[in-house]
Amino acid sequence: MRIDILTILPKLLEGPLHDSIMKRAQEKGLAEINIHNLRDYSTHRQKSCDDYQYGGGAGMVMTIQPIADCIEKLKSEREYDEIIYMSPDGELLTQTICNHFSSYQNIMILCGHYKGVDQRVRDLFITKEISIGSYVLSGGELGAAVLTDAIVRLIPGVLNNETSALSDSFQDDLLAPPVYTRPEDYKGHKVPEVLLSGHAAKIEEWRNEQSLKITQEKRPDLLDE
Ligand code: SAH
Repeated sequence: MRIDILTILPKLLEGPLHDSIMKRAQEKGLAEINIHNLRDYSTHRQKSCDDYQYGGGAGMVMTIQPIADCIEKLKSEREYDEIIYMSPDGELLTQTICNHFSSYQNIMILCGHYKGVDQRVRDLFITKEISIGSYVLSGGELGAAVLTDAIVRLIPGVLNNETSALSDSFQDDLLAPPVYTRPEDYKGHKVPEVLLSGHAAKIEEWRNEQSLKITQEKRPDLLDE
């Protein structure tokens, strides 16, 4: 899968996407993540990518020219399944959306800044708008990193044990059960007996019960769905 991220602040994406599982996914050739600096596409003398908004008001707006040129160049090279704009008024990101996106070949993710992008960018190029939550960030980069991470870890072969993504929270509308590792006894706080029993069916049953209980306590809304 190929992911192209368009940003004016590439540095913000380097850390989250070049370590751990994201790094391994790229090394294994399962994901190719390209970060494009929109300033490189600006025809403005000072490589500027923003301007004052029409109608007045505080806050700059990202101009259409560098974004359009970058998107058009990428589109001329391959077909994109989705061109996504990170936006607080977009569709709220869920595991279901991530599962769906993880089957795509090529996606583009546009990060906004300041007051956002010129509306015509959204009208002309964007096929999907995604929000990572009902709050406002200063830029789309952290959201793009969240989206990329959530999708890439689902690509078959990225996680060592593929079933480990399937047993994570939300995959079956349930939250994950608690997990324990050594020591068996931490200052009198013991690991549940059943997990030490070696009895696979009983462990499975306990985990299912715990999942259901935790979901009822923490996210009853998931069970209503
Ligand atoms: N004026 C806009 C907010 C702009 S915030 C409004 O009120 O809706 C600047 C940029 O940060 C946005 O263009 C978007 O790319 C990103 N952003 C902010 N909050 C976000 C969220 N919850 N999810 C995804 N992207 C977000």
